[in-house]
Amino acid sequence: MNSPQSTSTINASQPAVVAAADLSTAIARHWGFKSLRPLQDAAMRAVLSGQDSLVVLPTGGGKSLCYQAPAVARGDTTVVVSPLISLMKDQVDSLRAVGVPAVALNSSLDASESRAAVHAVRNRQIRLLFVSPERLALDSFRQLLIEIDVQRFALDEAHCISQWGHDFRPEYRQLKFLKQQFPRASVHGFTATATPQVRRDIVEQLGLRQPEVLVGNFDRPNLTYRVVPRSDVYAQTLELIERHRGEAGIVYCIRRRDVDDLTEHLKSAGIDVLPYHAGLDAGTRKSVQTAFKQERCDLVVATVAFGMGIDRSNIRFVLHTGIPKSIEHYQQETGRAGRDGLEAECVLIYSAADVMTWKRLLTKSVAESEQPVAPEYLQSAIRHLNDMDAYCRPLVCRHQSLVKYFGQQYDSGPCQACDVCLEDTLTEPVEDAQTVAKKILSCVGRVDQRFGVSHVVRVLLGDHVAALRSRGHDRLSTFGLLKDCGKNEVRDWVYQLVKLQVLVQTSDEYPVLQLNDASWEVMRDQRKISLVRRHKLAAPTRRSKADVTSWEGVDRELFDALRTLRRGYAEDRGVPPYVIFNDATLREMARVRPSNLEKLRLIYGIGERKLAEFGAAMLAAIDEHCQCRNLSRDRPSAPPATSIIPPKSTGTRPPRIEKQKAKTLFHVGTSVAEVAQKTGRAQSTIYGYLCEYIRDERPASVEPWVQPEVYQLVSATVDRLQAQSLKPVFLALDGKISYDDIRVVMVHRAVQASSTRT
Ligand code: ADP
Ligand code: ZN
Repeated sequence: MNSPQSTSTINASQPAVVAAADLSTAIARHWGFKSLRPLQDAAMRAVLSGQDSLVVLPTGGGKSLCYQAPAVARGDTTVVVSPLISLMKDQVDSLRAVGVPAVALNSSLDASESRAAVHAVRNRQIRLLFVSPERLALDSFRQLLIEIDVQRFALDEAHCISQWGHDFRPEYRQLKFLKQQFPRASVHGFTATATPQVRRDIVEQLGLRQPEVLVGNFDRPNLTYRVVPRSDVYAQTLELIERHRGEAGIVYCIRRRDVDDLTEHLKSAGIDVLPYHAGLDAGTRKSVQTAFKQERCDLVVATVAFGMGIDRSNIRFVLHTGIPKSIEHYQQETGRAGRDGLEAECVLIYSAADVMTWKRLLTKSVAESEQPVAPEYLQSAIRHLNDMDAYCRPLVCRHQSLVKYFGQQYDSGPCQACDVCLEDTLTEPVEDAQTVAKKILSCVGRVDQRFGVSHVVRVLLGDHVAALRSRGHDRLSTFGLLKDCGKNEVRDWVYQLVKLQVLVQTSDEYPVLQLNDASWEVMRDQRKISLVRRHKLAAPTRRSKADVTSWEGVDRELFDALRTLRRGYAEDRGVPPYVIFNDATLREMARVRPSNLEKLRLIYGIGERKLAEFGAAMLAAIDEHCQCRNLSRDRPSAPPATSIIPPKSTGTRPPRIEKQKAKTLFHVGTSVAEVAQKTGRAQSTIYGYLCEYIRDERPASVEPWVQPEVYQLVSATVDRLQAQSLKPVFLALDGKISYDDIRVVMVHRAVQASSTRT
């Protein structure tokens, strides 16, 4: 028997109870995280204590840490089952970058690599061993696991085992036998998308014993969701890309043909873009994936085939040019944006025709399938599609709709991060709405309440298409009654009537419109109706709160310089840049501008290994940047305001109490960032409180909030310009000192001057 060569302090053969302290030490040492995200703690406790578990956290919620950190703390080998080689590779790269021994055993290794990997596993040098479900079924592999006495299995993308899910993978079915084959080991499932039904199914299929089921908050506050009606897909795509110039994004299309067309269009407009779909050969697909991951390419136009293995954490926008097949798909595809917790935008270009396209494709694929397809499959698929369609209709906050779909409450009020709450749409009342409503309702009656929205709208618009003529609907009295209106407009009014409950849309496979008692009241003028006309703004004018705050205080020029440096390291090592540092960490470096290694170490996401490997180079780059511009260092850090953890709601606590609390904190020299975090208020608000505090309390110095050099610099400039307001000072300093700092200095000087006078 080989002697264990664990790198950690705990021997694998001792089923020792690992103290929480070991876990915290491992996290701080390897990952450099300052705090845990919601449910990570509970999830890790289940893993450590060997209690089966199912953890449902949204994409970017930090699921991997839940099994990685315990694996390090325990010092033995955890087996991770993952559906895709690319997913395994990313995790292995990331783990090695933080100094944790990990390997993936899969078909991409040649014989000697495989042997070396098995050897390391057998010698117990490996903390995390990644495998496919197929590998797990091999006898020889199971023997190896028995030999090393595996105690824990983690299953990534656990929903793949459920046929109720949207991503069923037959090979996952083999995992059913895991609990029987390894009765002493615990099994831990992880997934981002699971409705209660799928959740129950996962637990049942895996045969989990009294599992700890942890379901996280599905909301992703850092994502801004927008749904826009389709007008000109190409122009709409271009507008979004322009708005996110220099940032990474994915544009999803339904069909391969659309991918090719759009790619060509964008290329001819001089945009650097790569296409991806299942019709391209494997080599091309791989090279596109790699280019995107390594940040050599920032934009990919693709079908949904692109994404499962894409863990790039700084994707800043995801555009759907067509409707996804289900809300689960939508959540997963948009979930690829902003995994680093920073702001990102998700836009969906909506057209009702897509829903029909999907339904046609589905029916066709079922009809042509060689294997019999259960009728429930088609029904379930259509239901998913109808739910997605309903989501796209306006009026309700998108965050709220998504969260509700997954069976959760949304209490955060207007999200300020969706087209509805940001009021991208201007509305105006429709004149004579009553007549318009009556025309629509009577048309529904004329087609015998047997047709859906699209058909009714066509009749009202007076569309000369075969589908109407063959049914004689071009001869109805309601044919062409709203011919002067736009198609989207009329559709929207139909949905407004449904929402007002004076018209019913059935929830069948192919929903039809029907009348109810209220419809007749409208037609008899016993019930008054108002409708609105919506005008989508060409481009959204308001930015989400997440977008504004996550760049707050960041020195963008420095951020770009550090990003270039990061890319170089990534290329040298053949890993994606976010494996080196993610964007949130980079922005924080560019915000704080740390002056030495100790200060750098305090930045979130920098553990010992990364400090040793890249710290000096990062610092040198920061030094150079700051020296030639004479910039202050060790500036306050910002709480990741857009982090996936929603800031603690301050509820309806009146601002007065917050202000009082802020003042108490200022009294002991607490930084603005920290006060903002503790009171749950924006930094801008806290700066306002700080100025009040200075006026009221007249502190001798403002050193806790403004660096002495900055104070001197601003002071000298104010004197030189005889400045009375902030702007001239800001301009004279080339915008390098923030308005907030300047204001604090000027308020303090004024207070000082008046004290000396009195
Ligand atoms: P998921 O698998 O749930 O989609 P990941 O495990 O990939 O999410 O984590 C998403 C990102 O969040 C990664 O960049 C990871 O390093 C980071 N992360 C995870 N946990 C924490 C934490 N406690 N503090 C800060 N960052 C974290
Ligand atoms: Zn909203």
